[in-house]
Amino acid sequence: MNASELPRARAAGALVGAILATLRARCRVGTNLRDIDAWAKAMIIEAGAESCYVNYAPSFGRGPFAHYICTSVNDAVLHGLPHDHALADGDLVTLDLAVSKDGVVADSAISFVVGDAASATDVAMIAATERALSAGIAAARPGARIGDISHAIGTVLAAAGYEINTEFGGHGVGSTMHQDPHVSNTGRPGRGYTLRPGLLLALEPWVMDGTAELVTDADGWTLRSATGGRAAHSEHTIAITDSGAEILTLAR
Ligand code: MG
Ligand code: MG
Repeated sequence: MNASELPRARAAGALVGAILATLRARCRVGTNLRDIDAWAKAMIIEAGAESCYVNYAPSFGRGPFAHYICTSVNDAVLHGLPHDHALADGDLVTLDLAVSKDGVVADSAISFVVGDAASATDVAMIAATERALSAGIAAARPGARIGDISHAIGTVLAAAGYEINTEFGGHGVGSTMHQDPHVSNTGRPGRGYTLRPGLLLALEPWVMDGTAELVTDADGWTLRSATGGRAAHSEHTIAITDSGAEILTLAR
């Protein structure tokens, strides 16, 4: 990223943070995942931004993605396809959103429980991913290595008792959503790419209750835990600056 891109990255990040906050506030018992997708679409278009998901066709999904947001509920972990499902009291929801605004991408995910019936297990799992994300961000300083971030994230997740899956993790962002370097959710300090001011990274710790194994749903996209254990995921896009890391996707 060059200096002229940071303001655009901030704008993209603020948009993603605002959309996720709005969607979270609208999620109630009875809210349909298809409505969440439609609301996301409307806000992205209203802001003059572009979805990074529509027509995305990576190796890990079946055909081009046709939705504006990923909605992963309960044992769904990543890449959840918005489908005809009304949220129930106690559902654990992850919303994952990436948009491009003026040529720069921001990517963020939040997990939360709908209604009043949150289990202590779910609350603790969400909190663990949030703490891991904070630890990863704290480790993201100029001169540090990608392995320092991975180690910081993995230490928190492991201390909370979760196995860590290394198939999917964080990544660089820029003009496209998934760029080098890959940021594993576990790793050894002092290893890997050296962080420099201007680098944009999406950090995204996620865990499943009682397993690290994924299975792909019949829809060809949604990844679920192999055991039916529930999952949580927290993601921010950050910019490496001269003094540390700036979180771009906060809800303000
Ligand atoms: Mg994401
Ligand atoms: Mg991401």
